[in-house]
Amino acid sequence: LAKGAGKGTWQRYRSDLHTAMVERLALRTSLLEAIDARQFVLQYQPIVDVRTRAAVGVEALVRWQHPERGLLGPYHFIELAEESGAIAGLGAWVLGEALRQFAAWHAADPQLALRYVSVNVSARQFRAPGFVDRVRRALADAGARPEWLLLEITESLVLRDAEQVWAELRALRELGVRIAIDDFGTGYSSLSYLRQMPVDVLKIDKSFIDDITASRQQRALVDAIVTLARNLDLTVVAEGIEDDDQRDLLERMGCPYGQGYLFARPLWPADVPPLVGAVTVAA
Ligand code: C2E
Ligand code: MG
Ligand code: MG
Ligand code: MG
Repeated sequence: LAKGAGKGTWQRYRSDLHTAMVERLALRTSLLEAIDARQFVLQYQPIVDVRTRAAVGVEALVRWQHPERGLLGPYHFIELAEESGAIAGLGAWVLGEALRQFAAWHAADPQLALRYVSVNVSARQFRAPGFVDRVRRALADAGARPEWLLLEITESLVLRDAEQVWAELRALRELGVRIAIDDFGTGYSSLSYLRQMPVDVLKIDKSFIDDITASRQQRALVDAIVTLARNLDLTVVAEGIEDDDQRDLLERMGCPYGQGYLFARPLWPADVPPLVGAVTVAA
């Protein structure tokens, strides 16, 4: 602390810290009640064919319609939900709601061009006992086919307690559900692991895509991941594509799928069917 400015700065710091803690505590308390109060909503971001730009799937992204603070993105509450255990209820709601919505779109238009809905699963949610059964039940309750569901998990989850986690991943794939590794490249998967992992899709993290136009090295890295995935019979989605140059490069690398603001932002449910050329479904 600088002398002179010291005391005032320290007190301001303490009071900021106090405010932050009070806010966290308030969020944490209301988080537990927010599911019952139906304050969570889902947006859906299209995942597209990089070449044709046609949507092939959507990713469900949760938001909290907070009564005082407005629409909050996941960065404001997912970690808190993990710490407090509220993620169990929240995750179950997200899965059920995404499947129900997808089944409704499909019922309204059996020719629906969208093949799947992608749902993020947090590590704690996945590790809770009975996860596979909960997925099975959620599919049945929504009248959804297993191939409509892609579950996104993180690299670190696949690497820790591999035995237990891999057994559950295999059980999910036996149901017909597909598995994606989200934010691929930010963790520590080794190449030999990648060959054996019971997963179907790699989602290359946005941080890799950001620099592909400016950096030759970054381009080489993404190119290598795309080639590797193809040779291992894995599908690839490039995340966070924001401009045409990035798309052009990815197309030339043979990256099949992409997601990003260039194609579409996360959308409210009613805006999804018009975008993919299907009948609109009332919520
Ligand atoms: P994610 O799964 O990697 O999702 C992609 C995030 O990148 C989304 O942020 C999306 O809105 C954003 N994004 C997509 N394209 C672009 C782009 O071109 N530029 C930029 N700047 N951003 C883009 P969002 O919705 O804020 O979600 C953040 C993270 O929160 C997600 O990252 C995911 O890890 C987590 N999350 C979201 N929904 C859920 C959920 O239902 N359950 C769990 N456990 N986690 C969730
Ligand atoms: Mg995701
Ligand atoms: Mg992601
Ligand atoms: Mg990401």
